[in-house]
Amino acid sequence: MSCDYFALAAPGVRILQPYQPGKPESELRREYGLSDIVKLASNENPLGPSPKALAAVEDALGQLARYPDGNGFELKAALSARLGAPMAALTLGNGSNDVLELVARAFLTSEHEAVFSEHAFAVYPIVTQAIGATARIAKANPPDHEMPYGHDLDAMRARVNERTRVIFIANPNNPTGTWLKTAALEGFLKAVPESVIVVLDEAYFEYVEPAMDCPNALRWLDRFPNLVVTRTFSKAYGLAGLRVGYAVSSPPVADLLNRVREPFNVNSLALVAATAALEDEAHLARGKAVNRDGLARLTVFCRQRGLAWLPSAGNFLCVEVGRPGREVFLELLKRGVITRPVDNYGLPRFLRISIGTEAENARLLDALGDVLDG
Ligand SMILES: *Cc1c(COP(=O)(O)O)cnc(C)c1O
Repeated sequence: MSCDYFALAAPGVRILQPYQPGKPESELRREYGLSDIVKLASNENPLGPSPKALAAVEDALGQLARYPDGNGFELKAALSARLGAPMAALTLGNGSNDVLELVARAFLTSEHEAVFSEHAFAVYPIVTQAIGATARIAKANPPDHEMPYGHDLDAMRARVNERTRVIFIANPNNPTGTWLKTAALEGFLKAVPESVIVVLDEAYFEYVEPAMDCPNALRWLDRFPNLVVTRTFSKAYGLAGLRVGYAVSSPPVADLLNRVREPFNVNSLALVAATAALEDEAHLARGKAVNRDGLARLTVFCRQRGLAWLPSAGNFLCVEVGRPGREVFLELLKRGVITRPVDNYGLPRFLRISIGTEAENARLLDALGDVLDG
């Protein structure tokens, strides 16, 4: 008789819903026999990484037999100089996803609770439940709000109690694209007890425009020792495949995160690529310009088609397609365009579309127009 491993699994693991990644291009090629595929499903940088990062990777290939620097000295030194934070405030991760997990491992137990919003990034419930902690989900803003379906900070605060150890906030948020403005977020940080770790996930920070009033949370680190700001090289820096991200926090919190960190969690190619990518500000600026143009083009299309969309401070747009988003997603697949349905985020009539190159955006708009007409 075979053993019931499901029954043996930790209770938090039994209730986990596996993360649903964007559909890989290779999968669509296999399933549909298509060759000319456009992937706008995972908010990757359509320009790819900086050529300087690629050159650094090539240079490092000869050292692959060696373990990476487990402390990531060079990358931390570069980040420290760039961000104006001490190296002791930094925790490197295998993607910022890894850092989110480190926060859960360091601060949550089965006795504790984590607070996050409806329609928030899918990794928050995963890391919370995997550790056996309880997720407290706050209602999001109503559809007629200035930031529809975005985080409602009052609702989040109302979920905080003596068992709360962590609050996860994505700013801007994925998949909605909505953001929290400076004064509101600062007021929230002041109101939350110091004993609660507040994670501000800034995966899309580099795309934020000054006029949006979406804050750089690093400015608050001196005042709020419970604040953990996470960033990534996966989005604007175009290094999603290498997996590297980081947290900036007070040094005592960073010390705890680093204790639970796997000793060599960031590989040697990721370390050198990220260090080089940080220096290439011109590449970053090109990516932002492409994103700005692409977002503008997509919103013009939506307006012409009478489709509603959510305000976005990121490199993607969440569009209300007027029918089940998954249907439109499947129709677009047949036309070789991969987008992201967000029904699993509680947004069944929306489709999340990443911004691509000018040519990729044109393909998307052609295909989407075709689907909407058909
Ligand atoms: C993409 C994303 C991340 C980062 O993922 P990594 O590749 O693990 O760095 C983190 N938070 C949000 C909200 C994201 O959308």
